[in-house]
Amino acid sequence: MATRLPEPPRVGMVSLGCPKNLVDSERILTKLRSEGYSMSADYAGADIVLVNTCGFLDSAKEESLEAIGEAIAENGRVIVTGCMGKEAEVIRARFPNVLAVTGAHQYEEVVGAVHEAAPMPANAYLNLVPESGLKLTPRHYSYLKISEGCNHRCAFCIIPSLRGDLVSRRPDAILREAEKLVEAGTRELLVISQDTSAYGVDIRKEPRMWKGELVTPHMTDLARELGKIAPWVRLHYVYPYPHVDQVIPLMAEGLVLPYLDIPFQHASHKVLKLMRRPANEAKVLERLRNWRAIAPDITIRSTFVVGFPGETEEDFRYLLDWLDEAQLDRVGAFRFEPVEGAAANALPDQVPEEVKEERYARIMEKTAAISAAKLEAKIGRTLEVIIDVVDEDGATGRSQADAPEIDGEVHLRDASHLKQGDIVRVEIEDADEHDLFGVPLN
Ligand code: SF4
Repeated sequence: MATRLPEPPRVGMVSLGCPKNLVDSERILTKLRSEGYSMSADYAGADIVLVNTCGFLDSAKEESLEAIGEAIAENGRVIVTGCMGKEAEVIRARFPNVLAVTGAHQYEEVVGAVHEAAPMPANAYLNLVPESGLKLTPRHYSYLKISEGCNHRCAFCIIPSLRGDLVSRRPDAILREAEKLVEAGTRELLVISQDTSAYGVDIRKEPRMWKGELVTPHMTDLARELGKIAPWVRLHYVYPYPHVDQVIPLMAEGLVLPYLDIPFQHASHKVLKLMRRPANEAKVLERLRNWRAIAPDITIRSTFVVGFPGETEEDFRYLLDWLDEAQLDRVGAFRFEPVEGAAANALPDQVPEEVKEERYARIMEKTAAISAAKLEAKIGRTLEVIIDVVDEDGATGRSQADAPEIDGEVHLRDASHLKQGDIVRVEIEDADEHDLFGVPLN
């Protein structure tokens, strides 16, 4: 018997303006076509019409508005994009029925609006890639990027010159992606960006509808919504800004994992200033104490740079003493490297390589001892563990305190009945410097 395939939605496009706009139109159509959408050459055959506008001159704006009016009259289901997206109020005032207005070069926004207005039917013959996209991680955990670029200008980093200032993804697009990932088997979402705590600063006045409610583009609101979608949500690259305090109660409630990856990079105020890092180490210690009072199991992971230009033996000792007080759970350390193009390269008092090596060995020794003591204190406790690998000898997983690839593991005996992605309770029987050992209770 012949299989009847569902008809994919048909997209019409009106492209106005300069060749740059034309290229944008081509990109949007290429993306939609690769997802399985069909194209329509006329209004009548289209399920949705995109009008890519030009706003260069007043006459071009008027032409764009006329084109929107024509598409509404002829088809009725219209999404506006391009340069006039900046004047969304003007468009909405004249055409209240437009389905969405997005700006120039906002491919994800316009494609997201098409997904919403004319969703592709789920069908293995039409969809060349799974709804959750192609992944390089195992099925049970996925990285979720919430923004691109960074507004800081740390002296050792060239990311802002490579990727520009922070551009946040709209919250509903992130939540939709999270939902698709979870439907496809993800149990742990790893939220990443260059600066997760700054999420939404560029779009803070643009809340979006999600499941009938407005979601503000802010780390706390996003984390809360993600917590409703995935069993485990882990936050990476968070800076200790005051508003991070609001996320800690979500950890206490179990919506977000009690885990924060905060790249402190140093503790000495002088070195942090040379690094141009936004932080005040005295308040950070106080903040850590408060966080632990609210979420006693919170795991703090961090990274530090040793041998930054101008770092004296006194600064370095200050860092070691600070680590004694901060009692961070997981620490990665790097010797300062002059990356081509970084402002730090021109700083005076570069630290000799052998001194960097020696400081690196000292910080690693200190943090390994803290980590080992913290792990030993977990012996006898029952922890939740997500299973990564199962073989005939047992299974390997991670506790809530362990992000994949960068933190430790939990090695389980008598666990060959478990499956990858299971989240189980484990009695911890032993520990070494990095890992835990235990037995599943279910
Ligand atoms: S180190 Fe991080 S916060 Fe600093 S400029 Fe680079 S990406 Fe931004």
